[in-house]
Amino acid sequence: MSTTDPKPEKKRLPRKEFAPDVRLETLAVREGLPSTEWGENSEGLFLTSSFNHPDAATAAARFANEEEAFVYTRFSNPTTMMFERRLAALEGTEAAIATSSGMSAIMLLVMGLLKAGDHVVCSRSVFGSTIKLLQGEFGKFGVQTTFVSQTDVAEWRAAIQPNTKLLFAETPSNPLTEVCDIAQLAEVAHAAGALLAVDNCFCSPALQRPTKLGADLIIHSGTKYLDGQGRVVAGAICGSEQLIENVFVPVMRSAGMSLSPFNAWVVLKGLETLSIRMAAQSASALALATWLEAHPGVARVYYPGLPSHPQHELAMKQQGGLGGAVVSFIAKGEGAEAARRNAFAVIDHTRICSITSNLGDTKTTITHPATTSHGRLTEDQRQAAGITQGMIRVAVGLEHIEDLKADLASGLNSIV
Ligand SMILES: *Cc1c(COP(=O)(O)O)cnc(C)c1O
Repeated sequence: MSTTDPKPEKKRLPRKEFAPDVRLETLAVREGLPSTEWGENSEGLFLTSSFNHPDAATAAARFANEEEAFVYTRFSNPTTMMFERRLAALEGTEAAIATSSGMSAIMLLVMGLLKAGDHVVCSRSVFGSTIKLLQGEFGKFGVQTTFVSQTDVAEWRAAIQPNTKLLFAETPSNPLTEVCDIAQLAEVAHAAGALLAVDNCFCSPALQRPTKLGADLIIHSGTKYLDGQGRVVAGAICGSEQLIENVFVPVMRSAGMSLSPFNAWVVLKGLETLSIRMAAQSASALALATWLEAHPGVARVYYPGLPSHPQHELAMKQQGGLGGAVVSFIAKGEGAEAARRNAFAVIDHTRICSITSNLGDTKTTITHPATTSHGRLTEDQRQAAGITQGMIRVAVGLEHIEDLKADLASGLNSIV
């Protein structure tokens, strides 16, 4: 702080101290807030909407933002803060802000950074609701978005306008697992004076840390691998303290897309097992993808961990050598009608996999994207997106790999 600055140093909440080289697995279990005077070992769940102040002067200092403290759960709660600190530690960012869902994290991102007349460049392959939110809702408020190829950096560069403020990417994509080059997109963004935000839902910080590759902000749906057990809906933005405190916290204070402390606690505890789940689920996904590629009932497999994947090398470099837990494949069949019938047969023969569009669960999920997550697209849009009628997406969980193979073999053997 400069000597000419008349403002006194803001009084901060205590932090846990760690050695600078402490590892991700340790932070995943230990980062948070110091325990209370009761010495609880597991993190406390603070189900309270507001917090008391010792006296009126302290209340005034806290409302004037001169003292960091818990005031009101819409924007400050100890359980939520423990989740934010732990997630930021895992992503290697200075700070994080928790939101009620992954989509509300993206809403907060746009509300905080952009105004009418600003322009966004976004991959065409991002989560469907992200496209609807940017194009539809924010389009109404005068924020324009250009959608470009997931993998062709030249298209991103060509889409930049003088008013471009944000580039938005998600990698790998759903369900085709296309990988974009985060470092290259960061260069394109920064050359244009824009920020790069990356939706890191599919990899989680256990595999991929986008700000280490140059991204400015990370979006999470905590609903997926961070919770990892399919229990709650949650989200977050990770980034610099400057952006989180000065840009996003004020919007959270007035707009209130807050994460409930209960859900924050669930996701906080989910983070403790994140890296072992991601390693185990990625290993099973690779084994399943390899087996599927050799099955006569399968026309094609999409999985970044397979050498046949078009961006395999980039994915391995960017994702710490792991492919993630999502595998998509095409059931064989002549023509769209037969392909869909065969895909349905594979799904309907399963007895273990859950037929649901969610992912990031310890329970393996199976879905037919063309008639569910991408069912609202026209057939032409689906063809352009590469989502054919034979396609099946599997998000691999923690069941035994041989049981999963047997579960899929039952339907696949019936169509060959
Ligand atoms: C699920 C998902 C979201 C939205 O998250 P919610 O928590 O469901 O709101 C955003 N991005 C990706 C990649 C997702 O898979």
